[in-house]
Amino acid sequence: MSNAKKTTTAKKAAPKKAAKKSYVDEVIELVISQNPSEPEFHQAVKEVLNSLRPVVEANEEKFRRDAVLERIVNPERQIKFRVPWVDDNGQVQVNTGYRVQFNSAIGPYKGGIRLHPSVNLGIIKFLGFEQIFKNSLTGLPIGGGKGGSDFDPKGKSDREIMAFCQSFMTELCKYIGADTDVPAGDIGTGAREIGFMFGQYKRIRGVFEGVLTGKGLSYGGSLARTQATGYGLLYMTEEMLKSNGKKLKGKTCAVSGSGNVAIYAIEKAIQLGAKPVTCSDSTGWIYDPEGIDVDLLKEVKEVNRARLTEYAAKRPSAQYHDKAKEGTNQWEIKVDIALPCATQNELNIDDAKKLVANGVMAVCEGANMPTTLEATEYFQKKKVYFVPGKAANAGGVATSALEMSQNSERLSWSFEEVDAKLKGIMVNIFHNLDNAARKYGFDGNYVVGANIAGFEKVVDAMNAQGIV
Ligand code: NDP
Repeated sequence: MSNAKKTTTAKKAAPKKAAKKSYVDEVIELVISQNPSEPEFHQAVKEVLNSLRPVVEANEEKFRRDAVLERIVNPERQIKFRVPWVDDNGQVQVNTGYRVQFNSAIGPYKGGIRLHPSVNLGIIKFLGFEQIFKNSLTGLPIGGGKGGSDFDPKGKSDREIMAFCQSFMTELCKYIGADTDVPAGDIGTGAREIGFMFGQYKRIRGVFEGVLTGKGLSYGGSLARTQATGYGLLYMTEEMLKSNGKKLKGKTCAVSGSGNVAIYAIEKAIQLGAKPVTCSDSTGWIYDPEGIDVDLLKEVKEVNRARLTEYAAKRPSAQYHDKAKEGTNQWEIKVDIALPCATQNELNIDDAKKLVANGVMAVCEGANMPTTLEATEYFQKKKVYFVPGKAANAGGVATSALEMSQNSERLSWSFEEVDAKLKGIMVNIFHNLDNAARKYGFDGNYVVGANIAGFEKVVDAMNAQGIV
């Protein structure tokens, strides 16, 4: 039969109706068009909303009518302010401060303050958005928020840090409080910065209250808060492996970062019988086949505030690699488990391919969104157990909430008591997200499970409180 004949006898295809866009796709498009130049925020919204499709599709009509997704992707309030301070040369410097109060449906806003030159509104919004679901997952009554500034604490004197922190808090104190919004530490904000901010809050507002967490032990801090995120990451990793019939003991781990999360992840990994062999900072990374010496790492990073070259100089088994010179990173080392604990988008598709080729079995995120979407999907396709940061690093904020409880009852709990509660919370979070994934037919997809488990509680609370 000729082609011409075929054409004339073929039935005319009915014109296809344009498929109706799903509610999730509509809201993703809206977020991108209404928030241009905020790629990290788009990435976080896409990751969350895409994985919520099963829940949204099951309730599409009601959710659309109540504009549930439009409300959840719009912060309740975002504050941007000038932070002037004087440097050691008498020069006035001006930074920008942010606080995004994203969602208070289940409790006062809670989320850290990031001090890093890369900070902008989009980054704070991505972190605040993720924080809503993370905080919900903890099972504790805390809403989602995040703040920060483009101030770079590196290389500043203590006096300069204090000047910045006091100026930052002079403005921020108008919007926060123990029952409204309780910030905490994050990249660049450790115990020193929290102390300066707390002092200024108390001075201006005249109240001694649990307005910040991550405080020093002498003025209302909680034991185990410093360790909480790293320890919690390992408690969850262990529980996830156990529920899949595997063991953490004896496994090698690649850790990135050498800050608060990385150090205590390494410490707990060692305590639980695993062997972390890498760590990194923004300039280089260490491969230490004998296992990272966590006491030396603490001395270099927490006491001397030095670079990792100092670790390598003091540890004969360690190899130091310069990231810029070599174009390499810690993900090329053959390990069983990868624990990214530095910053967002630090593990991309090329890294993922190397890890998979080397037989990695699990990736558990200590940092916030350290794995790109493409790399996450690749791990899932290759059946690598993947636990997203909003669940795996929730131990930090959970212990912050325990600090809030101690402040409210004006009591301090022992290290063991807080650590036991932390472990219980992490184990519980894992089973909640595992069950949520199973309920919707996504067994073993912990990204879907975490988002659904976090989302359901927040939406329930939002619905109960009317259109606000
Ligand atoms: P720290 O500031 O203590 O440490 C951050 C580490 O990551 C440092 O080693 C730093 O190296 C490295 N790093 C930071 N930015 C970059 C970058 N752009 N490129 C490469 N390396 C970088 O922060 P935390 O350990 O507190 O936080 C790490 C991650 O964990 C963040 O994503 C944070 O949001 C998340 N998180 C932290 C919690 C906590 O309790 N601390 C709770 C939950 C999540 P260098 O010193 O050279 O800058």
